[in-house]
Amino acid sequence: MGTRPLLNRRLAGMGTTIFAEMSALATATGSINLGQGFPDTDGPEEIREAAVRALRGGRGNQYPPGPGIPELRTAVAEHQQRFHGLTYDPDTEVLVTAGATEAIAAALLGLLEPGDEVIALEPFYDSYAACIAMAGATRVPLTLRAPHFRPDLDELRALITPRTRLLLINTPHNPTGTVLTAEELAAIAALAVEHDLLVVTDEVYEHLVFGTTHHPLAALPGMRERTVTISSAGKTFSFTGWKVGWVTGSPALVSAVRTAKQYLTYVSAGPFQYAVAEALRLPDSYFDTLRTDLLRKRDLLLDGLTAAGFRAFTPEGTYFITTDITPLGEKDGIEFCRALPERCGVVAIPNAVFYDDPDAGRSQVRFAFCKKDEVLAEAVTRLRRL
Ligand code: PMP
Ligand code: GLN
Repeated sequence: MGTRPLLNRRLAGMGTTIFAEMSALATATGSINLGQGFPDTDGPEEIREAAVRALRGGRGNQYPPGPGIPELRTAVAEHQQRFHGLTYDPDTEVLVTAGATEAIAAALLGLLEPGDEVIALEPFYDSYAACIAMAGATRVPLTLRAPHFRPDLDELRALITPRTRLLLINTPHNPTGTVLTAEELAAIAALAVEHDLLVVTDEVYEHLVFGTTHHPLAALPGMRERTVTISSAGKTFSFTGWKVGWVTGSPALVSAVRTAKQYLTYVSAGPFQYAVAEALRLPDSYFDTLRTDLLRKRDLLLDGLTAAGFRAFTPEGTYFITTDITPLGEKDGIEFCRALPERCGVVAIPNAVFYDDPDAGRSQVRFAFCKKDEVLAEAVTRLRRL
């Protein structure tokens, strides 16, 4: 095979995702998994039944239409109108994808040229770095720093160069739980307009916000025509395994994303698309209860982590809590997370892997709270033994 490495240069060093590594460790050690972000309780029974009905009724068992079934595209457009006042044409401005993950990949592969610069909020969700690299582009981090994890907008302005093509935004933000304010979004939008930049905004946690409001970037002046908005049924409806996501944007943007998407999966999740169309039409009470339940879980875990000696940063959104392990006499989150299952039977994620400069997040560790109350309570009992 010669001496040339098999994995290409773009993906060098990107081995196994931290989520796969840590979930495998949880299984191997029988630990409580507060690492990978997935709920330990499935979403609404009627939505699960809707998937069964579709499957039994022969709906979606063969290739669905490339852009997604019309029922789901319509439901996505209605959802954007109902919750955000955004109007999208289901035929030309909505695209169904294999989760938000494929939407991110297709957007970056469809919109970027090699050599383009992409400014992304750091710490970044791990697939961003990989997809920017696969597109041959360069990532430029705008670092959110502890303890407040707010973007420095002067720094953002300074990072923009003639090669900047795209801003990759994530609000509510994984892993810090930051929800960008109306003022921060307005400043980001103004820079995007001034420099004629494209924006890809990952809003998969749009419904998981506590005591604040999620604002979609696409609603701001001048943004609709330059913004690709991404969301997914995984987080909102607690069916992460179904991998149903979607993109909304102008016809030109959606067409570019669709062009790449066609050659990634073509289509996916046929029967689940019918079920998610129903889920998007659930009454407001569903979304309110989801939020109230998660807020209780957040506070349960926040109190527990604090009692166990962590410095816990209160998230305004998502189902993750970022902590600092320095008060426990620890320095290195990666070592800490690798040892944690042995030490006390709990799995967490080291935030260092979400940074280009691992030093910036060396002592940060993320815990997921989308778990049963009793599981969170047991995890806290174990962590207090540290
Ligand atoms: N973006 C962010 C910020 C996420 O946290 C996740 C997954 N948890 C995704 C995208 C991927 O979503 P999906 O599972 O729908 O592909
Ligand atoms: N987004 C989830 C998290 O942040 C994990 C999804 C995945 O494993 N790719 O934990």
